[in-house]
Amino acid sequence: MRTVEALESNVRSYSRSFPAIFSRARGSIMLTEDGRQIIDFLSGAGTLNYGHNNHQIKAAITQYLSSDAVVHGLDMATPAKLQFMETFSSVILRERDLQYRFQFTGPTGASAVEAALKLSRKVTGRQNIISFTHGYHGMSLGAIAASGNRFYRAGSGASLPGTTFMPYDGYLGETVDTADYLRKMLMDESSGVDRPAAILVETVQGEGGINVASKRWLRSIEALAKNVGALLIVDDIQMGCGRTGEFFSFEFAALSPDIVVLSKSLSGYGLPLSMLLIKEEIDAWRPGEHTGTFRGNNLALISGTAAIDLYWGDRTFSEGVRRMGDLMRRRLEVIASQYGNAFAVRGRGMAIGFDCQVADIAETTARKAFEKGLMVERCGPLDQVVKFLPALTIDCDTLNRGLEIFEISLADTVKQTRLAVTGS
Ligand SMILES: *Cc1c(COP(=O)(O)O)cnc(C)c1O
Repeated sequence: MRTVEALESNVRSYSRSFPAIFSRARGSIMLTEDGRQIIDFLSGAGTLNYGHNNHQIKAAITQYLSSDAVVHGLDMATPAKLQFMETFSSVILRERDLQYRFQFTGPTGASAVEAALKLSRKVTGRQNIISFTHGYHGMSLGAIAASGNRFYRAGSGASLPGTTFMPYDGYLGETVDTADYLRKMLMDESSGVDRPAAILVETVQGEGGINVASKRWLRSIEALAKNVGALLIVDDIQMGCGRTGEFFSFEFAALSPDIVVLSKSLSGYGLPLSMLLIKEEIDAWRPGEHTGTFRGNNLALISGTAAIDLYWGDRTFSEGVRRMGDLMRRRLEVIASQYGNAFAVRGRGMAIGFDCQVADIAETTARKAFEKGLMVERCGPLDQVVKFLPALTIDCDTLNRGLEIFEISLADTVKQTRLAVTGS
């Protein structure tokens, strides 16, 4: 760690929360150089939905590598790309009655978000983007402009124009329908809000604190976008690829977004791969108008194809994710109930947040958990929510062991906090 501290920029973050040197990993277990085993409930912020070094996916890429097939070919056609698009179309899209074109963007989620914003502006000839309180869309300027977090916004050092923030579902309490509010603001010719090119939304806000939008709210937003001639963009970077129990996080609400943004677990292996799904009628790009060196990396397309073939051919995997999600949620609710109304549990599928309300409790709990062998991250505007994103392939035993470590760490933290309060 001393090398890291001396040589790596101050900007490093996860190596502060999890101070260890991680040498190997498999499934839901990471090994540190000094021989500790850590249960991973972070999963690369939702990048490792199928676990670390998933052996079946690995077989596909090692075979690809050893055959001298093309690894980098800009966005030229390769068998790897054809196979990915064909598999994705038949296994994922056709099964769900969805029809999209594929746009492979630069490898990060943020590059895909940028492309989505740019395309919406181009298609509609409008500039404004509606995004939501506590939303997170990435670190490039366009994506930060659509993200709520003041720390990141200030860090950009630039003005961040082109977006209007509206309250997300539940932001103003249970009794206020914020979709009604948005409708009013967009339909009123004198509300001061410019006609939007797009409404950009996460169906569950990952970084924002595991805030869950309801089916009714999402459907209202979709209808409203149509009404005002704006595109609906679902940022499914963190909640897509099975995280909520279905491949797309918007399936439960039967949405048909104009653009879907995918990244994180899309390659199935932690390799960088991002893409947009865009409706054919809005594919207004001119050839080469949006480009990039690392678009649709072939190795990532191979692992992405293998993941779809392995897990999405039928409903079994999906049902398993929902079952495990229920199990997690129930257990976390039981833990929360031991503390009266101090904590709240929310989420969908295997994306669950445990809201400690107080940043200190979340921080201390996560730190203690790591000391005891569990990696969990925090999210939310104050980092007050402990975020559970285990691999979707985790076994019950490891899942329960992880939850037990969390339970003990929380109990320790609360006891210590109470002592501190009574002591002062
Ligand atoms: C992680 C994330 C992004 C940004 O992806 P990067 O690869 O970090 O650029 C955007 N939107 C959501 C919802 C994310 O979770």
